[in-house]
Amino acid sequence: MKMLMAANWKMFKTREEAADCARGIENRLAGLPADREAVLFAPFTALAACAGALGPGARLRLGGQNCYPAAEGAFTGEISPGMLLDCACSHVLVGHSERRALLGESDAFVGKKCAFALNAGLNATLCIGETLKERDGGMLRPVLERQLAEGLSEVPDDVTSERLCIAYEPVWAIGTGRVAGTAEILEAHALVRAFLRKRFTARGNAMRILYGGSVKPDNAEQIINLDNVDGVLVGGASLQAETFARIALAGVSD
Ligand code: PEP
Repeated sequence: MKMLMAANWKMFKTREEAADCARGIENRLAGLPADREAVLFAPFTALAACAGALGPGARLRLGGQNCYPAAEGAFTGEISPGMLLDCACSHVLVGHSERRALLGESDAFVGKKCAFALNAGLNATLCIGETLKERDGGMLRPVLERQLAEGLSEVPDDVTSERLCIAYEPVWAIGTGRVAGTAEILEAHALVRAFLRKRFTARGNAMRILYGGSVKPDNAEQIINLDNVDGVLVGGASLQAETFARIALAGVSD
């Protein structure tokens, strides 16, 4: 299983800034080991510019931060998986907590996107995570299991393990500078792994589970060395090429 090091730029960067930064990341990824992949989830408006800056054969792959579960139609403001493929994307994020909280995306809707994106040919990363209130209320397991059950409910049983990732992102750790502790990450990732095994049998062992939430160059190596952590999803610290590249290359000696 290759580790996945992913950048989520959220709603940042003009086309020019995005092209410069994507190029800057790519130039620093020459030493990315063969057992790691890097993906950039850029804003829709910057995808074509990033694709142009990276060119074919780049190590840094591209992804959309969201998609709508239909091929085309009267869905003003939305983007289809086919449109992402057309912009050289191979990946898509679904269910980011900011979209769940700010735009009211339900587990069921996220599940439709996940299955539709996979069926359309994109690799999907399903984001899950509990709020602080849910965690403090002893709801970690039921919340994660509900998000997984509904988020994966329409995903074909035979989906290959490389095409589906889960990103565990505790909401209280996103953009707060408060990274989850080792025990918290281990507990949540073990829970996700058990769910994946049950849902996808042996293939569930090989699906990647990313950690996201205030990952920085100085904590990345420790996080990716934890059991059942198969990569990271990085927001704020991915906005500078050098910082993200240091995370992507964490623990790799020169
Ligand atoms: C994210 O946006 O998915 C994220 C993890 O953000 P940050 O790294 O800034 O906490």
